[in-house]
Amino acid sequence: MRRKFRRRLLDWYKRNGRDLPWRRTRNPYHILVSEVMLQQTQVDRVVPKYQEWLEKYPTLSALAAAAEADVTTTWRPLGYNIRPRRLHAIARESVARFGGELPSDDETLRSFKGIGAYTAGAVRSFAFGERAAIVDTNVARVLFRVFVGSGNLKSHATRRHLWSVSETVLPFRHVFDFNQALMDFGATICTARKPKCLLCPMRPDCAAYPHNPANERH
Ligand code: SF4
Repeated sequence: MRRKFRRRLLDWYKRNGRDLPWRRTRNPYHILVSEVMLQQTQVDRVVPKYQEWLEKYPTLSALAAAAEADVTTTWRPLGYNIRPRRLHAIARESVARFGGELPSDDETLRSFKGIGAYTAGAVRSFAFGERAAIVDTNVARVLFRVFVGSGNLKSHATRRHLWSVSETVLPFRHVFDFNQALMDFGATICTARKPKCLLCPMRPDCAAYPHNPANERH
């Protein structure tokens, strides 16, 4: 099942993966910016802001040197002003502790305020090519439906279980594509409302499909 899931997901991604600017970089800071922007904002609104942001602050050192008021103004109109302030604080900390770089190990990354388990996994797998799992809302929903099927997606026990599922299904190669594929798949096929089960390559083995996942409460 694990192998089938990997193969189906990577095949689907090859045919359907979106061409997004942060998929053409391995720069840890650029990956971090995209992840923080995507936390509460739709992809189509993030793309132009991501480009504008990196033109203005191309490195962590450039961001660290900017004034906070400038940084929050550049962020507009994305909203949730805590996010640019967090990025700014991460930039200043990276300059103070690591010469303007981001470290690649989980523990040190997570020692930054504003970098949690998900963001650390994203930076490690997308920028450093490490075999690091990610579980955000989209990924949790996909893994829950395919491997668990029914129950309470939001309970702590389920979340913990989904992290271990995510670690287990992760391939040893193509980690970048696999994690990007998981997120895309959750955003476009296995969506929260009205999942496109009839187009879905996971359907033959999906634990939720017989329970009609379109009727789940979220
Ligand atoms: Fe999601 Fe439906 Fe596919 Fe299952 S069959 S993974 S619920 S889209």
